[in-house]
Amino acid sequence: MRQCDIITIFPDVIDVYMRSSIMGRAQKNNVVTIRAHDLRAYTDDKHHTVDDTPYGGSAGMILKVEPIHKAVEAVRLEQEKKVRVVLLSAKGERYTQRDVERLAQYEQLILICGRYEGVDERVAQHIADEEISIGDYVLTGGELGAMVIVDSVVRLLPGVLGNSESAVHESYSIDGYKEHPHYTKPAVYNGWRVPDILLSGNHSAIERWRKKHARNSKKKEKE
Ligand code: SAM
Repeated sequence: MRQCDIITIFPDVIDVYMRSSIMGRAQKNNVVTIRAHDLRAYTDDKHHTVDDTPYGGSAGMILKVEPIHKAVEAVRLEQEKKVRVVLLSAKGERYTQRDVERLAQYEQLILICGRYEGVDERVAQHIADEEISIGDYVLTGGELGAMVIVDSVVRLLPGVLGNSESAVHESYSIDGYKEHPHYTKPAVYNGWRVPDILLSGNHSAIERWRKKHARNSKKKEKE
């Protein structure tokens, strides 16, 4: 991924996070461009209305299809095949590290953040390529989900993590795998000791200890 465009009614929330830490560094180093776009800028009425009441009647407001359509078309890059449009949705497919790897292959990600009671279904039917949920719970908006996607994808991009922060042997780099525990100085704190083996300098023994203490959740499920 070289570019990510997030469509939201709260662009400021996104901007703060994307300027910080590794996301900020990746942008400064021109690895990726991340932009949050105010959905209200794609409305025509003087009140910049982005929502309306649901057809059929019920509680809550629904984000309208037109501003979202206009926003997506305005930010979309030319080569359609390399663009993936994702709608954040509690009803979507649950997000996993395999999706992170898959989404990292696109040139551009366009992430649509819902709000209120949700989004006009025509967005899922005609504009988005897929709907993603970041877990089986309901958030007030899609912004946290969009930030989860951007953060997890950007850290896989070449040149973003230094060697010391490598993403190769991490939890979920293989299905079900969870990394071994880490410790740092001091060796004893408050009577809590670091395992002796890690202080032994015996690299093959340390490697065996790490393998033993990495967790494979698939294996555990079977046991
Ligand atoms: N009424 C909807 C339902 O029951 O599925 C929930 C709407 S939620 C309050 C508002 C917006 O937050 C959604 O349109 C979606 O963009 C976002 N959202 C909420 N939960 C989410 C989740 N688990 N994953 C991704 N986005 C979520």
